[in-house]
Amino acid sequence: MKERIGAVVLAAGQGKRMGTETAKQFLELRGKPLIYYALKAFEDSDVDEVVLVTGKESIAYCREEVVRAFGFRKVRAVVEGGKERIDSVYEGLKAFADNSFIDCVLIHDGARPLVSGEVIARAIAGAVRFQSCVAAMPVKDTIKVCDAECFAKETLDRRLLWQMQTPQAFAFPLIYRAYQEVMGWKEGEGRETITDDAMVVESVFGPTGQKIKLIEGDYRNIKVTTPEDLLIAEAFLTARGG
Ligand code: C5P
Repeated sequence: MKERIGAVVLAAGQGKRMGTETAKQFLELRGKPLIYYALKAFEDSDVDEVVLVTGKESIAYCREEVVRAFGFRKVRAVVEGGKERIDSVYEGLKAFADNSFIDCVLIHDGARPLVSGEVIARAIAGAVRFQSCVAAMPVKDTIKVCDAECFAKETLDRRLLWQMQTPQAFAFPLIYRAYQEVMGWKEGEGRETITDDAMVVESVFGPTGQKIKLIEGDYRNIKVTTPEDLLIAEAFLTARGG
């Protein structure tokens, strides 16, 4: 039987590094709100259901001006996110746990409009085969660790370094259990250092308890964070056409 696949698309961040009034996920890109592009990629994929997570003040906008206006039929809920990314992901996972049955879930930053159908397909296949996988690419720059005064302290071996992207994809029971556990941690128990979903799994199951497979991402799958990223995303979208 074919696995049922869900996707949590995150759009509850404030995007402070963008420096605009409008949250970055709703800024216009080629005449459409930025969040449109990730939702369209999932709509056109083998994902069955999408939960969109956004800020309380943007729920009505997302329902009317995004989901309804563009006719996204796979978005079955728009739910309120939380303070940190981890809180928003948990709200998205809960919406799946409460109301539907899915085998695997893809977690995606709505601020990555250039996610391709190929990367989504690889993430689905990776989740089915390995239970945990992350889209990733080798780093291009040399990465150094610096000290508190910003002097270079150490140079990491670039051949071993990869930058993580999204989608990050998991067997649903595994990621939901890991999130439930981490959400129960008190302050100072390590929650605040978690920056992606794979880290949630690593923190709960340990590096050998549940291996995380890196699958091929895409250098174009950038996260729109600062104003220059908008120009880059626009150029990539234009080159892609449509
Ligand atoms: O802040 P950052 O760029 O790392 O956010 C990555 C993604 O997580 C973005 O799509 C953002 O909207 C989302 N996010 C969220 N809830 C938060 C913080 C970030 O949904 N509290």
